[in-house]
Amino acid sequence: MRAILKLYNTLSKTVEDFEPFNRSRVNMFACGPTVYDFAHIGNGRTAITMDLLSRFLRFKGYEVFYLVNITDIDDKIIKKAVETNTDWKIIKNQYEEQYLSDMKSLNIKIDKFARATDYIEDIKKQVQSLIDKDFAYKIDDGIYFEIKKFKDYGKLSGRKDVVKDDAQSRIDDNDNKRGWNDFCLWKFSKNNEPSWKAEFGDGRPGWHIEDTAITEHFFGPQYDIHGGGTDLIFPHHEAELTQMESLSGKIPFVKYWIHGGLLYIDHQRMGKSNKNFYTINEIIQKYDCKTVRLFMLQGHYRSTLNFSFELLESCENRINRWKRTVDLLFQVNSEKVTDLEQKRLEKLYENFIKNLENDLNTPMALTNLEEFIEYVENNGMSQDIVDLFKKFLVCLDQIFGIDLNVKDIDDSIKNLIVEREKARLKKDWAISDRIRHELLTQNIALNDTDNGSFWYRV
Ligand code: AMP
Repeated sequence: MRAILKLYNTLSKTVEDFEPFNRSRVNMFACGPTVYDFAHIGNGRTAITMDLLSRFLRFKGYEVFYLVNITDIDDKIIKKAVETNTDWKIIKNQYEEQYLSDMKSLNIKIDKFARATDYIEDIKKQVQSLIDKDFAYKIDDGIYFEIKKFKDYGKLSGRKDVVKDDAQSRIDDNDNKRGWNDFCLWKFSKNNEPSWKAEFGDGRPGWHIEDTAITEHFFGPQYDIHGGGTDLIFPHHEAELTQMESLSGKIPFVKYWIHGGLLYIDHQRMGKSNKNFYTINEIIQKYDCKTVRLFMLQGHYRSTLNFSFELLESCENRINRWKRTVDLLFQVNSEKVTDLEQKRLEKLYENFIKNLENDLNTPMALTNLEEFIEYVENNGMSQDIVDLFKKFLVCLDQIFGIDLNVKDIDDSIKNLIVEREKARLKKDWAISDRIRHELLTQNIALNDTDNGSFWYRV
């Protein structure tokens, strides 16, 4: 049987057929935000990439459970609380609320958000188990994972070393570590820092352990898809794999590791530390979610993408063109489509789906859709292709999250258009112009062509 999706797996570094552990349900997890600041549109790109994947799996008939964690305890949150002299809980709640609202405004569907602080018992259990199994040890400031005990360390990222672009602020420095790259599982609390009671020492979780504790809680020791941006492959995802495979002895911890390319601006990675970002909230105030999603999805998810307002504008124009074509669904002409053309147009839809099946090749799929749209723009909407166009629109809505709002106009507007057409045919320009103007006040414009007058929404 032909696989219904091929995906590039960071673990094998090849494009593989997608076969979940259990055919009836796909368990999928992606790293969510650390809630110490507003999410930027780069975070939004990874969120849209993972949303595309879960949507496509659902479109293909899988039942998907899509889980995202919220890192609501972390050095960065504590630092912000100290700097602003605010309770850390107020900081995390404020940015979590904004993040959830950002996800909604980007039309992202997530089944469950799991806050790290709600899973402290699961986290403690994993730390204790790693100590019991002799993978972890205690020093002055916390519990650390001893990397040399896990022979496969490096198998996901292909490396063991930290370099400049890694999540630097989260590398755990301590001269007393047994291995220079050992990572922290549990940090003992200092002064007034947030802290939870634990037998191995009161404190708070390290960065990597919250994800494995949360995924084990929901999925058990193995699951299908883990996603995130490429910046997280090392050390974060490498550490997750190390922890969980050491704990359970079950391999693979995750079947498919999917990583999205980063969003750049002026050829530099968009990020908080580079201070070169736009927040999701800022962008969504200016541009419709459909425009933002198209902007992200016109590039392949694994490639880097450069942010620019010009590109956003061009996506907005593209969406407006598409919408005009959608309006033609209610103004079908009688032109027949030749058999040859019909076959060509059907092939476009077939290729659209095939391109998505091929490692989510959205740019190629959009080329197929664009060719179809151009045909309609040049030839009008024939009854023969209405159903085919509707199939494209269902995909655009369900897979791309771009709903073009297929809706007819009210009868009162239709009557005005008929009146205006009568006036136009009688060359009564005064009435014709008055009605045209009245329609415009209701956001309906008219396009007079040799084949008649067509309306579209403005
Ligand atoms: P963070 O809040 O930095 O932990 O990031 C949350 C998610 O956003 C992770 O999946 C990151 O990989 C992703 N991310 C961070 N910066 C970018 C960027 N410039 N482009 C795309 N994704 C990013």
